Amino acid sequence: MGSWLGPLQNAGRVLLDFAYPPHCVVCQAEIKAVAILCDTCWLAIEKAKSEHEDPALDDLLFKSHIFKENIILGCFSGILQEAIYALKFHNQPRLGHALGRRMALWRAKDLASIDYLLPVPLHPARLRERGYNQSLEIASGLAVALGVPVCNGLLHRCKNTRQQALLSAEERGDNLRGAFYQVGQLPVGARIGLVDDVLTTGATLQACAQALQTDHLSSIVLARVKGAN
Ligand SMILES: [Zn+2]
Repeated sequence: MGSWLGPLQNAGRVLLDFAYPPHCVVCQAEIKAVAILCDTCWLAIEKAKSEHEDPALDDLLFKSHIFKENIILGCFSGILQEAIYALKFHNQPRLGHALGRRMALWRAKDLASIDYLLPVPLHPARLRERGYNQSLEIASGLAVALGVPVCNGLLHRCKNTRQQALLSAEERGDNLRGAFYQVGQLPVGARIGLVDDVLTTGATLQACAQALQTDHLSSIVLARVKGAN
């Protein structure tokens, strides 16, 4: 993008903000800058960020030991759930980027060991429909804050799977079998962070992990659904 576009875009944004004051995409409170969420909503997400700690980690992902670490921002509830809903269904890709940046700040210690970020891909048909991959938006926010690259395109989704939430545990496995494949090589010895928006049973992340040739894989997700199994 040409360097002259930056100031032009900023000027356009200032004019737009004047004509249509920006609002928090979750609670609609008026916000001064292009902050996407208001301070109250960010604070609510920050406060709830440790609520996912669950002594009964009994789902597929945690039992499988495929991942070195499972790094999760919070529980899929409250403001975080509403924010993810806006990110996915209300055309708010910038919110994914912002959530990724915040997560990098709040989970800096856990994320320090990651060398490359790999977003869970969407099927091309789903990508056309939505216009963006929410996991790539989250990964790009994490990447900026952590200073690590995103390997987008290394993992392909060749099967347009049905929505996992609508299926039984058995159907979920079948639905995702052979859904992903790796394209090209991952850097040898690199510690990869596989990025997704929501963790339900972990079947999607597990299917991605099975398609990847790497020994060091961690999962990074914004929110975990409690009691999904
Ligand atoms: Zn708000």
